[in-house]
Amino acid sequence: MKTFILESSKYFMEEIDLEKDKEKILRAFGKRAQRCYGCFVAFHFKDMYLGEDASYYCEHCKTDDMFHFDDFVKFIDVSKLRESKGTHHLD
Ligand SMILES: [Zn+2]
Repeated sequence: MKTFILESSKYFMEEIDLEKDKEKILRAFGKRAQRCYGCFVAFHFKDMYLGEDASYYCEHCKTDDMFHFDDFVKFIDVSKLRESKGTHHLD
């Protein structure tokens, strides 16, 4: 039982840390360069839109049914992003 509590509190702490760093991680993620699938010009993720085909489009090529970065980023599991591997160098 003691081990269980230790394990779960450790898990809880990691969750909290990730939550705290989430904004920082997402900001770093938003600075990644990505080519627009429509015009092939590179943009920052934070200025792009996600299409239904899982491709990213710039604001000139997007259509109304696409999600802006600020919207689709809410559904991203930040722990899966490479930016979450080390948050100390993210500023
Ligand atoms: Zn474009």
